[in-house]
Amino acid sequence: MLVTDLNHFAGLPDDTPGPARRLAAHLHDIVRAATAGDAGTAWETALPCRRRPGNRPCPGRMIVLRTEARAPIRWQCSVCDDEGVISNWEDSAFDLRRQRLALAEPVSEIVIPDAVAAALRGLQLLDTDCERLVFAIRGRDGHAIIAATDDDLAELIGFVAAEANNEPSRRRQQRLDAAFDALSTAAQAPGS
Ligand SMILES: [Zn+2]
Repeated sequence: MLVTDLNHFAGLPDDTPGPARRLAAHLHDIVRAATAGDAGTAWETALPCRRRPGNRPCPGRMIVLRTEARAPIRWQCSVCDDEGVISNWEDSAFDLRRQRLALAEPVSEIVIPDAVAAALRGLQLLDTDCERLVFAIRGRDGHAIIAATDDDLAELIGFVAAEANNEPSRRRQQRLDAAFDALSTAAQAPGS
């Protein structure tokens, strides 16, 4: 059980060693997911496990549970025994809880490849609503499921297009183009 306090991972200096930086990024993603998705129930995110048993990535996904404010966020891998708790996540830069109630609009569930979910998590320019959408993506049977209204989807596609246009790295641009295609196809699909 990895017991962590998010305050200890805030503002890490530039010369922080790679493993500590990767752990911080992992914990930040878990807090984003746990605060973007439902509270009071454990659910499987699209976040990959950080472990590499036998030098192969663990195929598990992070299962997160957030109960009430002031209680630590609990997380565990869906495959291996990696698990932990994170305290002092409230009101951090990674706390994506809604500040006000949202109107209930019809939501479509769209299946996207894991690589697309990862590309969406890497977007730098997202507003908080779109960031919440991206970190609420669920893992299911090796796929990722995004739940979005038509308006959410249109907004997210706009962010992906803008970032793809300005992306200097050819490899990252290809990943963003693939994400753009996957979301655009879903947005045009009948019934979505
Ligand atoms: Zn694992």
